[in-house]
Amino acid sequence: MQLLNKVAIVTGAGSGIGRSVALAYAAEGAKVVVSDIQEAEGLQTVEMIRQAGGESFFFKADVSSATDNAALVDAAVTTYGALHVACNNAGIGGASAPVGEYPIEAWDKVISINLSGVFYGMRYQIPAMLNTGGGTIVNMASILGNVGFAGSPAYVAAKHGVVGLTKNIAVEYGAKGIRANAVGPAFIKTPLLKDMDENTLNWLVTKHPIGRLGEPEEVAELVLWLSSSKSSFVTGAYYPVDGGYLAG
Ligand code: NAD
Repeated sequence: MQLLNKVAIVTGAGSGIGRSVALAYAAEGAKVVVSDIQEAEGLQTVEMIRQAGGESFFFKADVSSATDNAALVDAAVTTYGALHVACNNAGIGGASAPVGEYPIEAWDKVISINLSGVFYGMRYQIPAMLNTGGGTIVNMASILGNVGFAGSPAYVAAKHGVVGLTKNIAVEYGAKGIRANAVGPAFIKTPLLKDMDENTLNWLVTKHPIGRLGEPEEVAELVLWLSSSKSSFVTGAYYPVDGGYLAG
């Protein structure tokens, strides 16, 4: 088991990619703190982990709140005694408009969840990890942490920011036992895409040379590897998991 007896936090674990990551961590022996703003969905993830024989509890936290992030880390350490692994995954798509028309409040919301949320998470995860001699962090970026996408300026800016922030953690904490990496999924079949019509989804498929959208479990595999000691010499990196999107 790759994460036996490790304590892990996954944000946005009530749905989609975060749920798959939480299940993958638990299947590899981690005790998983499932966090989300959606309580019912988060509890459902915990139930799935327990049904499979794993150990988990739910902690409600809004990643755009620094105090919620502090409380989440505190709950993990108080309940399980340490923190070794974190996947900062919670995120939203946000409004669709070009920069010159982008609603200011929509910009603020996307940045507060998708970028500040990752910073706040690591701000409290890192001191807890240093107390246990180190740890691994995986931040959920996107292919849009590497290239632009018309109509999504806030999302693109936030995800590029996540990639940069991840590099800084590597530089600052590499010698202190903390590794941090960013993952860049292309379009993955999760509720995040629920507002897209069929034409848009079909067009998106054509952007992926592999000829389909991704599954959350395919992202979780990469996150698991980056979270485990199998990736012991990997830090500060950005790994696309994109069906060839960035190659096109
Ligand atoms: P999803 O909507 O299925 O899951 C996101 C989860 O985050 C939800 O459970 C939601 O309740 C939670 N969340 C939203 N705002 C929150 C907040 N303020 N605090 C705490 N939790 C919050 O979406 P997903 O596709 O699984 O997305 C997960 C991550 O993957 C996001 O960061 C997203 O940007 C990224 N991503 C998704 C895709 C995709 O195509 N689905 C592609 C690239 C990157």
